[in-house]
Amino acid sequence: MPRFDAILFDFDGVLVDSEPMHCACWAEVLAPLGVILSWEQYRERFAGLDDREMLRSLAAEADPPLDWKLLWAQFPAKQKCFCRKMKDPPFLPQLADLLERLSKEFNLAVVTSSSRIEIEPPLEARHLRQYFSALVTGEDVERHKPAPDPYLLAARLLGARTPLVVEDSAPGLASGCAAGFAVLEVSKANDMPDLLRTCLFG
Ligand SMILES: [Mg+2]
Repeated sequence: MPRFDAILFDFDGVLVDSEPMHCACWAEVLAPLGVILSWEQYRERFAGLDDREMLRSLAAEADPPLDWKLLWAQFPAKQKCFCRKMKDPPFLPQLADLLERLSKEFNLAVVTSSSRIEIEPPLEARHLRQYFSALVTGEDVERHKPAPDPYLLAARLLGARTPLVVEDSAPGLASGCAAGFAVLEVSKANDMPDLLRTCLFG
C-alpha cells in the first residue's frame, strides 16, 4: 500500500450504519404521497446517492408520474425524522479510539452527500467531530457522488495529495476512483475498523 497523507471517510455505512434510518425516514414522509420505498429498493439503488437524484427517479417511476419537487418538499420533514433517530447515534464503541489513533498520523475528513445538519450533531454528540479537519457535505458541491467533486474538494481543504478514500456504496466508490485516489471498500460500518487497520498497518 502506498503512503497516504489523509483519510477521507464517507459517513453513512462507513462511520455509522445509518442507511436504514435514511430509508425509514424517506419511506415515512413519502408514503402520504403514494410513493412506496422499500429497504431492498433503497439499498440496491439509492444508498450513497444524493437525495435529489433518488427523488427524481421515484417521481418519474410513480404511476402517474409526479413532479419531483413535490417529493423534495418533504426534505425538511425527512431531516427532522433522521435527526430524531440519530439522537442516539449507533457509532461503534471502538470508533473513538480508532479516530484518536489515526488523527495523530493522518489528516481526516468526512465526505458525504448528506446534509451537514444530519452528520455534524451526531459526531459532536459522541465527541468525534474533533478528529476531522474538514466535513464536505451535500451543500458544499454542485455535483455529488459519483462525480469526483466532493473528494477533490476534501483533498484540497486538507492539502492532501495521496489520500485514502473509505467508501461503501457504488456511487461513493466511483467518486473516489474518479478523483484519482486510492479507495478502500467496506461492506458495512461494523467491518470498517478492522479493514482500515489491515490496509494501513498490515
Ligand atoms: Mg455510504
